[in-house]
Amino acid sequence: MAQIMDGKAYSKEILTQIKSRVENLENKPSIAVILVGDDPASKIYVKNKEKTARELGFVSKTFYLKENTSVNELKDLILNLNLDEDTDAILLQLPLPKHLVSQDFIELIDPKKDVDGFHPINCGRLLTNSNPYAISCTPKGVVKLLKKYNVEISGSNAVIIGRSNMVGKPLAQLLLAQNATVTVAHSKTKNLAQTAREADILISATGIKGLVTKNFVKENAVVVDVGISRDESGKIFGDVDFEEVSKIASLITPVPGGIGPMTIAMLMENTLELSLKNAKF
Ligand code: NAD
Repeated sequence: MAQIMDGKAYSKEILTQIKSRVENLENKPSIAVILVGDDPASKIYVKNKEKTARELGFVSKTFYLKENTSVNELKDLILNLNLDEDTDAILLQLPLPKHLVSQDFIELIDPKKDVDGFHPINCGRLLTNSNPYAISCTPKGVVKLLKKYNVEISGSNAVIIGRSNMVGKPLAQLLLAQNATVTVAHSKTKNLAQTAREADILISATGIKGLVTKNFVKENAVVVDVGISRDESGKIFGDVDFEEVSKIASLITPVPGGIGPMTIAMLMENTLELSLKNAKF
């Protein structure tokens, strides 16, 4: 039976450490969160982020913009926050309503305040191992949790299912930088189960409930489930068939309680790091 990689417990440890560091800071880290529209899942995420930020002693401001916000309104808000000396970190909650193109606004955020690490400067710096101001929170949380459980990344075969800019691609870069041999699989991959079975470390980030069955998993592989999907009642599921796969894997993350809380902890860590870096310049 696999050991559980407890992201909930580890994230609490990380948050406690951040809180005690913040207590000693004169200038508290500050984060501005922008939410456009009424997406219920995004509202929950934003509320949780704000609550955690406040508990840590951060200054947290959330800007709730209406669904029909214009391009210029959103642009002006971001540009003003870029100039605002009291804002260390800017988070644009995605997805945006259809009439607003996410990438256009991500590129407007000052890279030094880009807490999600999505700006091309930060993605490029990650790609070239040259000190991004921030690294995308979910991939960073995955690697941190693997390290906490002493997973040998160097020399391992890592297979990531999912190739998004937010999760799959930055995670591939992080694991490559840690000397893993990385395969990125996706919706057009042929023989997905066969590819996945090559993995010493298998990470799934698709949002397809139950995609990863026992046929995808090599004996004693480490399995990380990033996926989140919900049924009509709002219950949360991962990509991995936990019951089956936990009998084969050596280590496994649960959903909920795995990568979700690690992602929030990394968001807080990134906010703190940006505020410390900004204070230096
Ligand atoms: P996305 O929709 O941008 O990307 C999904 C990826 O899955 C795509 O690259 C696609 O090619 C791949 N995919 C889809 N169907 C597939 C299939 N049948 N076989 C193989 N690959 C397939 O999503 P994203 O932003 O990368 O997020 C992925 C999942 O992770 C979502 O469920 C999201 O909710 C979740 N997520 C969780 C956290 C967290 O904190 N735990 C953070 C970010 C994203």
